[in-house]
Amino acid sequence: MNTTIIGSGVAAWTLARELRKAAPDHEIRLITADSGDFYSKPMLSNALASGKTPGTLVMTPAAKLAEQQNVELISQTTVTAIDRSAKVVRTATAEYPYDQLVLALGADTIKLPIEGSGAGDVLSVNDLTDYDTFRRELEDKKHVAVLGAGLIGCEFANDLLKAGIKATVYDLADRALARLLPEQASEFLQKKLAEQGVQWKLGRSVKRIEKIDGAYKLEDSKGEQETAELVLSAVGLVPRTKLAQDSGISSDRGVLVDEFGRTNDASIYALGDCAQYHGKYVLPYIMPVMQAARAIAQTLTGKETPIKFPAMPVTIKTPDCPAVVNPPLPHHEGTWEVMADDNGVKALFKAADGALLGMALLGEASKERQALSGQLPGVA
Ligand code: FAD
Repeated sequence: MNTTIIGSGVAAWTLARELRKAAPDHEIRLITADSGDFYSKPMLSNALASGKTPGTLVMTPAAKLAEQQNVELISQTTVTAIDRSAKVVRTATAEYPYDQLVLALGADTIKLPIEGSGAGDVLSVNDLTDYDTFRRELEDKKHVAVLGAGLIGCEFANDLLKAGIKATVYDLADRALARLLPEQASEFLQKKLAEQGVQWKLGRSVKRIEKIDGAYKLEDSKGEQETAELVLSAVGLVPRTKLAQDSGISSDRGVLVDEFGRTNDASIYALGDCAQYHGKYVLPYIMPVMQAARAIAQTLTGKETPIKFPAMPVTIKTPDCPAVVNPPLPHHEGTWEVMADDNGVKALFKAADGALLGMALLGEASKERQALSGQLPGVA
């Protein structure tokens, strides 16, 4: 039995490990567009201050991991097509047969429609190569404009500050982390980061970026101007679905998979940032990958196992304002109960019957993560 996995992020490597545990003799092939080196992607947004280089972020080199897991690794190779009737995947130079195929393709960064001579220089950081470019471009720079006040934008802003670089953060929403936090929690985080030097430019978009004398002049929708030496975009990610779509695999926001991680083709599975689990949820975080990989490995080796997601609170890596969030699911009905003081915010999203459905814990309150997590429902 050959299982071919496309990708080499945490989803691909975790699945390979789980599969190897479940089936010592299984043939596992991993085809990836990058080097295949294993690193912690969440570290990318808090690596500057600690002086991490792309090299020191690598936890296990690809060749070593491939040997440990007895995986055939085909790196620096992009899969260009899936021929489902012949059960082969195609690259520019070869085709590879599979019995089972797993898509662990990740997500692409969103590019904003911005005008001006500097628009093409906007950076985003979604892998080790991007981080390498970002680090090089940052040399001697003292002010970065960050586009996006979501989880990744706020983390980069805090990391830049810790590295001694000023950060100005833009967002169309009128508050930071608007999709994850209730209003008072956003205000608390904004205040804490502002005290350390973050400049917030919220409720606006950047319209134009002109490159002038090696710096960038940003003009926003409120008509204000700002000069920064580098512009980093962190406005979000979109699951990579094209390869699946082109071969007739159903996709919506992500590649659609059922409770077993299976697409509409019984031989093809998906997990990680590219997947839309249970036909509903795009869960672009590490913990869902672990749950999905364990279950899919069992199913691939003949023991059908549904993917179950427990509550999976996410730590926001803003050291100047420790925060843990577990937002309610879209279908949850309830209200936020918010307790806030100078030391923190404890926001609990509760149903009419008092059941805890979501939470946002900031500052001192983040220490209650453990105690409250057990009361949260899983993702179903
Ligand atoms: P990826 O790691 O993106 O891997 C995709 C792989 O597919 C890559 O190897 C790529 O080369 C390969 N690939 C794509 N297309 C092809 C093709 N056609 N042919 C061959 N190979 C292909 N999550 C948390 O839970 N907590 C955090 O604090 C956190 N912080 C984050 C900070 C940053 C800056 C970022 C960007 C993300 C963060 N996340 C965090 C999200 C988390 O890192 C991701 O959910 C996770 O890493 C996704 O793993 P993946 O394997 O699905 O995708």
